[in-house]
Formats: sequence, structure tokens, C-alpha cells
Amino acid sequence: MQHHKEPGFRENVDLMFHRAAAHLDLTPGLAAKIQICNSTYTVRFGVRLRGKIETFVGYRSVHSEHMEPVKGGIRYAPEVNQNEVEALAALMTYKCALVETPFGGSKGGLCIDPRNYDERELEQITRRFAYELAKRDLIHPAQNVPAPDMGTSEREMAWIADQYARMNTTDINARACVTGKPLNAGGIKGRVEATGRGVQFALQEFFRHPEDVTKTGLTGSLAGKRVIVQGLGNVGYHAASFLRDEDDARIIAVIERDGAVIQPDGLDPEALRTWIAQTGGVKDFPGADYVADGAKLLEAECDILIPAALEGVINLGNADRIRAPLIIEAANGPITAGADDILREKGTVIIPDLYANAGGVTVSYFEWVKNLSHIRFGRMQRRNEEAHARLLVSELERLSADKQLGWELAPDFKKRYLQGADELQLVRSGLDDTMRVAYQSISEEWHRRPQVKDLRTAAFIVAIERVAASYRAKGL
Ligand code: GLU
Repeated sequence: MQHHKEPGFRENVDLMFHRAAAHLDLTPGLAAKIQICNSTYTVRFGVRLRGKIETFVGYRSVHSEHMEPVKGGIRYAPEVNQNEVEALAALMTYKCALVETPFGGSKGGLCIDPRNYDERELEQITRRFAYELAKRDLIHPAQNVPAPDMGTSEREMAWIADQYARMNTTDINARACVTGKPLNAGGIKGRVEATGRGVQFALQEFFRHPEDVTKTGLTGSLAGKRVIVQGLGNVGYHAASFLRDEDDARIIAVIERDGAVIQPDGLDPEALRTWIAQTGGVKDFPGADYVADGAKLLEAECDILIPAALEGVINLGNADRIRAPLIIEAANGPITAGADDILREKGTVIIPDLYANAGGVTVSYFEWVKNLSHIRFGRMQRRNEEAHARLLVSELERLSADKQLGWELAPDFKKRYLQGADELQLVRSGLDDTMRVAYQSISEEWHRRPQVKDLRTAAFIVAIERVAASYRAKGL
């Protein structure tokens, strides 16, 4: 995807690291220690499929163990390679530090096009991959906890969890060996949509900072903003749906593998997703214009651009033509370091990946804690909170029965007030708080240091300082 003259993904992440580290007073040794990727395992294994043995290549890279377990997804894609997995593992370190999840950074990948295999075959492959990783402690509740990423979902996580449990029959915390599991296999409510929800919460928080919004030339709130989304996968789809349904943003174009669809009045992401599932692409989606060269739409006029697919899609080849004043990186690494320089010069505001898509790992953290505590969030308090609320409601009802006071309770007050928070509400509240607090820490750096011109550098600064503090505390 990247422009041929540009460095690779890992070098791009390193360039971004160095740009931020230059503002900090780190000893050169410590900076290098933080930046370097600690280890990358390559596993090659055979699986008997369709009567013959097929060999697969997979990776698990551990970027930083300043906190353990290390955390990060497992990606299934044909182009997975060591360079990419290491870049993604590094991003996980900074991401976790930024949103204060107590993890180091890791990432895994398997070179495979999952569309070429049926479900049974994928299960065989996944179980074998999980076996290879688990026997090296590269899947472990206390050391290394994978999660879904591109090309994987709840389904693969359930197989991984089961495989680990079979290999560790007496480990009471076995379920915490992986996150993003289905609810019936130890998952948590709200994990599937968590990354998309996090993108929405990030944008909401950004728009709560008028002095930051001013830098984009935009005004007001998210309502009515024209949004272009690249990639209607798990992240892009949920982000687009929430922004449209809850913030009244307009999804004016969606870019997918086979091209883009445009509708200035706004597309319905759900209908479009159903269409893609039925027809295999966005082409001929009713009521929208189709453009075969989808990537061109990245350059279209809009208020907010959301790259939610691959890395390197905004690069030296198109950066100077990008017109969106605000870009939020729902994907990991969608903007190369070179493109980032051009956009920064132009004044484009970029809400960077390490913050923007951290919703996934944040809710993974809640899931991991749930697994270790062996109890659903809210189970102990919910009815007790309701009982307290009922006391207040009864008292208010008694007072409003006194006609002389002239009080009347709003029609739905009782129902709403009486409802104690369930797991989903608690997860959302935890995620919302996390995204708000993290943005505030980034924005503060941005304003505090006149030399820091962009949110990415500010975010890296916050993250690197935290990782550095953790290493120093260890006496390094
Ligand atoms: N793969 C996701 C990411 O890149 C989630 C990682 C996790 O939950 O551990 O952030």
C-alpha cells in the first residue's frame, strides 16, 4: 500500500517515537531500550488439510515487558510479516500506556487468507497455532494475552481459549489467557464494538475541547459533520453506526475493497454492511453512487476522515491531496511518517491511532479483570443500588402526592432512576472515562509544549514518559 520510496511500517513507528522522544529528557540508553522490540518468535507448523500437509508461518512479537502480561491482537492476513507485527507490537506498548491498561505491548500474526478455508479448517489451523504459541508461554494469562485483530474475531478467540484450557487443565485463570471471547466463553459485553465505540468517544471528547476543534477550522459539535469511512470491518462499521445514530453525523462515503459508495445525504452503515455480506462488495448499493477507484475518495472533501482498514493508506503518494481537516486513525498506522509530516505542515489535525483505537484494548482489560475475578461486573452491587434508588423514589413520590407542593415526577424518571447499571453500562462508562482522561492528558501536553505541533507527538510523549517511569521504577 505504501509509496515505494517510503520506509516500512516499523521504521515509521520508530520515526514517530524519535520525534516525540526528542522532546524528553531520556538518557540515550533508556530511549533505545523503550524503542527496541524485545523479541519476535516465528513459528512454522504443518496442518493436514484436504489430504495434504500445508505449512503455515505465524509470529508473536513482544515489544516491551515493562508490565506483564503483554497484550495485543492476532491478525490473519496473507501479507503478515515480521516488520508489520513488530510495528504493531510497539504501537500496543504506547497504546496501553496511554490509556493506562497495565500491560506491555505485543502482537501476533498468521500469514493466511482466511477466506480460502472453511470454518472447520480454520479451527484446526487456529488450534495448532495456539498450541505452538502456548507451549512457549506466548499465550498465558500472566504473561501474554492475545485478542482479535484484522481477520480474527470472537470465534478464533474461543478456540484459542479452549486450546489453552486443554493444555493447562488446572489453571483456574485459564480463561484470562485471551480476550475478545464470546460471552458464553468468558467474554464481556461490549467488547465486539469496543474499538468503534472508542473512536466515537474519542471524537466526542475532541469536540468537547473547542480550542482544539478551532485548529481544524470546524465548529460546533459532531452533528451534521460529513464523514468518510475507509473500511467497513468491525471497527469502521461500529464507529460509523454510532456516529450516525447517536451523534447525527453524516456518513457521506464508504471506501471498501471493491470501490467506494457516495451519498451526500448520508449512508446507512447497517444496510450497507448487509449489502456487502450478500453481494460481496459495495457496488450497486441502492441509492448511492459507485466509484471503482475507492482510494480516490480518501482525497474527497469532508469534515472527518476515518481510515479504519490497513496501514499506510495515506502516504507520500496522496498526502498532499487529502482535504479532510480532521483525520481519526481507527486503524493502526494508516498514515505513514512522511505523510504525517505533510499533513502536519498543512495544518490537518490527526487524532492518532495509539489513542483513537485504544477502545479495544481498554475493554480487553475489563474482560481480563472479569476473568481473573471470576465474577461479572455489577453482580454484587446492582440490586443494592436499585434498593437505594427505590428509597429515594418512594420519598419523592410521597412528596409529590402532596398536591400543595405542586411537584410532579417526570414520566420516565422512576424507571430510569431505578435501573442499576448492568455489565454493558459499566463497560461503556469505563471506556468513556478512559477515552476522556487519555485525551485530556494528550491535549494538555499539546498545549503545554509550544514546540509540539500535533496530537501524535503529544500522545507519544505521554506514553513514552509512562513507560520510562515504569522502567526507572524497576531500577533500569
Ligand atoms: N487488536 C486490537 C488492537 O490493535 C486489540 C488488542 C487487545 O485487545 O489486546 O488494539
